[in-house]
Amino acid sequence: MKNFIGKLTIISGLLLVVLAGCSTASGSDSGEKETAQQPILIEGPMPIEAEKFADRLENVEEEKSGTFVFYKGTVDGYPVIVAKTGKGMENTAAATAVAIEKYNPAAIINQGTSGGHDPELEVFDIVLGKRTTNLGSLKTGDRDEGQGIEPTKWKPMDLMASEGSAGEDPNAEKIRYYKGDEDLLAAASSVKDTYKKGKVVEGTIGSADVWNNEVDRINWFHEKYGTSVEEMEGAAAAQIAKAYDVPFLGIRILSNNKTNDGEYNPDTAAANQEYVYEVVKEYISKLEDR
Ligand code: SAH
Repeated sequence: MKNFIGKLTIISGLLLVVLAGCSTASGSDSGEKETAQQPILIEGPMPIEAEKFADRLENVEEEKSGTFVFYKGTVDGYPVIVAKTGKGMENTAAATAVAIEKYNPAAIINQGTSGGHDPELEVFDIVLGKRTTNLGSLKTGDRDEGQGIEPTKWKPMDLMASEGSAGEDPNAEKIRYYKGDEDLLAAASSVKDTYKKGKVVEGTIGSADVWNNEVDRINWFHEKYGTSVEEMEGAAAAQIAKAYDVPFLGIRILSNNKTNDGEYNPDTAAANQEYVYEVVKEYISKLEDR
């Protein structure tokens, strides 16, 4: 009996080892495969801001999730997914979360057009988002009925400061900046010279579901937040990328600049995608070295 139990223990022990072996082998296999093939995700809000890049992908397959369109293909044999997110913070946050869950990207670039906050920047100049921030997250002053509205007294509100009430928490009265990923920034800087339609500078991208046409308000953001440009998506993507710890960079071309009478030009959307294509090729070549 003792012998029998002994044999049984040995057999079940062996079985466990074999099973464990199987599961780790298949686990590490798919793990390795995943790391080697983690795609780069390129986001663009409007058709003119995504389709040009999607056209340059090889072996493209289109997938939809809700209203979000994902063009899955390759650049230089490496997987790249272009996401047409739709405009605005909500679309972008949701599309980013869906893409992270579905495709496990190695890095995310949110790109497209923007409005200048810096009078030194012209239409067709490009801003690499060393920082990205939410311009719509604000707390108003305390005013009773009849005391009016004073937007220049509004304070920035950091919704990520704590899990408690941001309205009551004085520590939440600050600007949250999402930092652009160093390796993505390095790749973008190193191909600056390929872009001939304007300058490429590092700066701060501000986002909100607001189109500001009041130059005093634009100047207020420029001074208080240090914004170079405004748009409606970057900070939403940056926040979700950070939630999942995925490297992120915003790359925005000026399509208009109210501070120096720069008229809106939709051709900027295509120019930005051409530049971002160069950035992606450079990033992939370095990713393969790492
Ligand atoms: N002028 C465009 C409107 C685009 S709506 C048209 O008539 O079709 C806003 C989109 O453009 C957003 O995706 C936003 O990211 C970008 N954008 C460009 N310039 C902007 C600005 N000055 N303020 C806010 N968003 C801007």
